[in-house]
Amino acid sequence: MPYWDVDPAEFDRPKEECGVFGAYVPNDEAARLTFFGLFALQHRGQESAGIAVSDGNVVRMHKDMGLVSQIFNEDVLQTLPGHISIGHTRYSTTGASVLRNAQPIFCQSQVGEIAVAHNGNLINTRELRERMELEGEHFDTTGDSEVMARLLVRHMPLGIEEAVRRTMAEIKGAYSVCVLTPHALVAFRDPSGVRPLVFGAIRDGWMVASETCAFSPIGGNPARELEAGEAVLIDKDGPRFFQGAASDGEAMCLFEFIYFARPDSEMYHTSLYEARERMGRLLADEHPVEADIVVPVPDSGIPAALGFARATGIPYREGMVKSRYIHRTFIQPDQRIRELGVRMKLTPLRAAIEGQRVVLVDDSIVRGTTTKQIVKLMRDAGAAEVHVRITAPPIAHPCFYGIDMASKGELIASRESIAEICETIGADTLGYLSVENAIKAAGPGAKGFCTACFTGKYPIPVPQNIKKMAFEAPPDVGQLATVASGQPALFE
Ligand code: SF4
Repeated sequence: MPYWDVDPAEFDRPKEECGVFGAYVPNDEAARLTFFGLFALQHRGQESAGIAVSDGNVVRMHKDMGLVSQIFNEDVLQTLPGHISIGHTRYSTTGASVLRNAQPIFCQSQVGEIAVAHNGNLINTRELRERMELEGEHFDTTGDSEVMARLLVRHMPLGIEEAVRRTMAEIKGAYSVCVLTPHALVAFRDPSGVRPLVFGAIRDGWMVASETCAFSPIGGNPARELEAGEAVLIDKDGPRFFQGAASDGEAMCLFEFIYFARPDSEMYHTSLYEARERMGRLLADEHPVEADIVVPVPDSGIPAALGFARATGIPYREGMVKSRYIHRTFIQPDQRIRELGVRMKLTPLRAAIEGQRVVLVDDSIVRGTTTKQIVKLMRDAGAAEVHVRITAPPIAHPCFYGIDMASKGELIASRESIAEICETIGADTLGYLSVENAIKAAGPGAKGFCTACFTGKYPIPVPQNIKKMAFEAPPDVGQLATVASGQPALFE
């Protein structure tokens, strides 16, 4: 059944591709734990989700389009008994948004079935796929994750550790991966550590997840992040760590700190909530302004707005209310509703805004369309001035590592100067946090970062043919929400 994304405020945000989760426990409840783990990782992808589970003999799987809570219920979980499980929640960046591209990917190998769940994006998919097809391989999906899964299958007769090493030697790009075999759970992270992956304990079992926020709802405790290029194999003998590929140096996605990951997660031993609050403080240092109130764009702008307010002494006010339940619907929105834009999601609080000089704090500007609408909301509610402050530095380059943030031509900061963007969005002033201060806010425990979408410096070299595609004419800016039927939903 087709669904329509009716969350216009999210259209101008970068989209995280996926969340992954894995559990190895001493009872039959691995799938149930994975359900709750995926539930906590829902923000990393809302198009499809799936769980694969092994009871030591048989690997079973269930996946579908939609939210985790729509796909799984007690009846479905009853069909997934076993002590080892992996799960995946997906927003597609490669491969269409259809069920056959949902994950985990399930493959038959000479040593039994395996299932693979992948967060990230491979940049040599095409050449690997062409080579493998020439060698007689058949693919069921159009995504890059099946290429990885089939490489693992090829090498499985050498043992799972060697299969991981050989697969990592062939694939290039950003990846955090969970693999389920009949007897083991394996997780590994790319040599630059672009996408997050954390390992931890749960009672007398073990788990891995994209973010630490998946641990606490199920009583787990994060132990440590996997290092760049590192893998962990968990079986009846417990967890064993090994280097799947030599590290190229840590280059964690800086956007995980700014926006993608949940604020209650920790990365590089740092609370993301506190990191975002520090971003707000540093933003106030870099771009001070005389104003009456600091207003966050909810929810992602809240910690930075608090930081800005505390650093300046300007009072923090909630200036708009966010509808929490607008997301997806099976009812097609008509043109009149589409024209409401962000008003479907955000309602200004006139009592707080009227006559005030407002500092509006948000996490990012991608195309500029949503920010423009929010500035207008403030003015329509009577704001005397609107000063926009953004914790992400200007996004001027596309991402090739698993984040869907539009082609270069669509990125407003690739076409316009900051003064021009300020005029386009209708603000009185506009200030972005610098890359240096965004990194500084991540805290002293932070290792290296990918900053490519801000600086154009790609830590994993991107082939020219892929770069060229991302620089070519963008799709219709209005066609930002792809529905399961393949029809676009137009809002802007
Ligand atoms: S290019 Fe930007 S969004 Fe992509 S991984 Fe690097 S920092 Fe993250």
